[in-house]
Amino acid sequence: MDKEQYKAGFAALIGRPNVGKSTLMNTLIGQKIAITSNKPQTTRNRIQTVYTSGEGQIVFLDTPGIHKAKNKLGNYMVNVAERTLSDVDVVLWLVEASDYIGAGEQHILEKLRKTKTPVILVINKIDTVKKEEILLFIDAYRKQMDFAEIVPVSALKGDGTEDLIACIMKYLPYGEPFYDEDTVTDQPVRQITAELIREKVLKCLEDEIPHGIAVTIESMKYKKHIVDIEATICCERDSHKGIVIGKQGQMLKKIGSMARHDIEDLVGKQVNLKLWVKVKKDWRDSDFLLKNFGYNPKDSE
Ligand code: GDP
Ligand code: MG
Repeated sequence: MDKEQYKAGFAALIGRPNVGKSTLMNTLIGQKIAITSNKPQTTRNRIQTVYTSGEGQIVFLDTPGIHKAKNKLGNYMVNVAERTLSDVDVVLWLVEASDYIGAGEQHILEKLRKTKTPVILVINKIDTVKKEEILLFIDAYRKQMDFAEIVPVSALKGDGTEDLIACIMKYLPYGEPFYDEDTVTDQPVRQITAELIREKVLKCLEDEIPHGIAVTIESMKYKKHIVDIEATICCERDSHKGIVIGKQGQMLKKIGSMARHDIEDLVGKQVNLKLWVKVKKDWRDSDFLLKNFGYNPKDSE
């Protein structure tokens, strides 16, 4: 990494609901974070997207100004909350691939015309329209205001997203990254890994062990071609421990191999997964322990 040339800054992402903001974020960080389970250990309060490459770091804020500081990287979220459109380095306005500019869009336009921050118009879902039409949409929007850039993308298919990153980088100042890559990326990956393991335990044993299961990641070591992970499955009773392990360890093996496949997809590398099973009596009754397991009792509304 060349520090002299490194770029780091903030990008605000705005756009109507359903326009594809979450999809775009997931595509940009290149990880599928679609967790299906609704059980306590969810990742829905995960940190905002931070895109880091050898060239620079982009901290994406969506709906600036209304963030709540409510996750583990608390200080980061507080910073976010104080920022406004005029406070970021670049604004991304995500719109549908259409030339219909309705009241919602007009409302946003009024705000955008007032800000001095460069605005990149991102026309999303171009996979749903004909190529020729895209030019018409660009024209319709260009008449509304002076955009710094106009970038057509398909967040879903990943088309145009590299161009988008390059465009954003243009508007970021030179500087050191705000977030240490380990803090930013490792924490969510650990959470998701724990969630995936827990999901498999519940899938294999739903009837036998109703939800009294927590998973902690003891260690996660990234090596060149493989990630070594050690995790502990905590259950409430000795009898549960026996069920999770199964005859000659068959059940634990099954859980481990199912989880390993998903974790490999997540981290994009081979995974060596070691699972331990422990009995932790009464963990559900203790706030302290709940936190320890990665639950925030206040968040599980
Ligand atoms: P958000 O409310 O702005 O966060 O929008 P989402 O990311 O949740 O996306 C809303 C819907 O649009 C989902 O069904 C996505 O799959 C879909 N979507 C998002 N981006 C694209 C795209 O580029 N092409 C297509 N065809 N659908 C997309
Ligand atoms: Mg969303």
